[in-house]
Amino acid sequence: MVRVYFHTFGCKANQYDTERMRQEVEARGGRPVTGWAEADVCVVNTCTVTNQADAEARRLVRRLRRENEGVPVVVAGCSAALHGADYARLRGVASVVEGHDPVAVADAVSRAASQAVWHAVPAGGVPAAVDGSARPGGLVRIELRRALDRVHSEPVGAELLRARRGATRGWLKVQDGCDRKCSFCATRLARGASRSRPPDDVVAEARLLAAAHPELVVTGIHIGQYGEDLDGGWTLSRLVALLLERVPDVRLRLGSVEATEVDDSLVELLATSGGRLAPHLHMPLQSGSDRVLRHMRRWHTREMYRSRALEIVRRASPLGLGADVITGFPGETEDDHSATRELIEELPFTYLHVFPFSPRDDTAAAALWRERPVPQRVAGERGRDLRDLARTKGERYRRSREGEEARISLEGDGCLGLTGDYLRVDVRGGGDRDRGRLHEGVLRGHGGHLYIDLSQPSASN
Ligand code: SF4
Repeated sequence: MVRVYFHTFGCKANQYDTERMRQEVEARGGRPVTGWAEADVCVVNTCTVTNQADAEARRLVRRLRRENEGVPVVVAGCSAALHGADYARLRGVASVVEGHDPVAVADAVSRAASQAVWHAVPAGGVPAAVDGSARPGGLVRIELRRALDRVHSEPVGAELLRARRGATRGWLKVQDGCDRKCSFCATRLARGASRSRPPDDVVAEARLLAAAHPELVVTGIHIGQYGEDLDGGWTLSRLVALLLERVPDVRLRLGSVEATEVDDSLVELLATSGGRLAPHLHMPLQSGSDRVLRHMRRWHTREMYRSRALEIVRRASPLGLGADVITGFPGETEDDHSATRELIEELPFTYLHVFPFSPRDDTAAAALWRERPVPQRVAGERGRDLRDLARTKGERYRRSREGEEARISLEGDGCLGLTGDYLRVDVRGGGDRDRGRLHEGVLRGHGGHLYIDLSQPSASN
């Protein structure tokens, strides 16, 4: 039995893809292990969101070779899709799968484990032709799948995922890829055009996952584009309504979705589903300056975001509201930063993910950065400023929830909980065995430090 260690970098979509790879490897008799020291083959599912993400993946591959001498590594994922040849040159790499195809990864694992075919990599060069002969002490086979065109047209999720191993919340991937062209983003280059899964497949997978998880996160690369490539007028809100109807015993939560793509029907579901659709939206903002948004090649203005966010919150409160923001984008001035700050102050965000700009090769923003870089120190200071502001707003929101009811999923060993509106709270009286369902209780605490005591009856349990 082949023991396989999986390591995942990046977003929920990548984590979902790893689960599909793991399931495919298991179906062929492989056994996933939690530490690389006990593995016969290692799989690294890479991310390419920044140059740093690429570098981290390369570092891990080198470390695996150092610390696990002789154990072949299969590299897959977004970074592999764009830099396959670079990974192929790294010693210890048995195979590079340019993308996320679980069948291709499972094939590569089988071949790497059997080490049936060996060939050498010339120093600093691309792999030599496979000669079919075993070389004592030689290097493992390297197979490059020149697959970008295939990635761009590959159907999403032909097989159904049954569970996300060891986690309370399951990821339900409804689409892959993106049709937008944000100037800082390499994800769409690696993932290709937006492709939606057929609604029946999504429902079938949600039913399987609901047997293992009390909450499912509807995820993808750009879920607001769900249905645009399908016949029949499918939209994200229509899909969510279908899931709520056909998969009754689970809480759904939307993954990151663009403000301009949250339609009125989705807001209605957030407001009226009684928490079945978690009252939480994560809507990427990136900047509150129209000038910067234009350079980012975003399709919306500050006002489009602002008015949509205010309307959503007016109709569906209380709501956990989060956003991604980039500081120090090329050419960002103090006035631009102030415009972002003012917008964040005005909108009822409950948390933010703030990233200092980091250039990513092969993107239009990297070229802009060479012309008009913002010093890292300045990007860092602006980031700290926005994080402080977000912390203050978050604490205010947490205080406003003291004494109110919440329904939580349990995390870790059951000592932490996640509310529908995306607050992490301490849990008393919970245990690992209770993770299979949601729990209700009153949010107690003070100063924004919240906990739920499951041994204390609440009005609703
Ligand atoms: S919307 Fe923009 S940032 Fe998001 S995946 Fe598409 S191109 Fe990237």
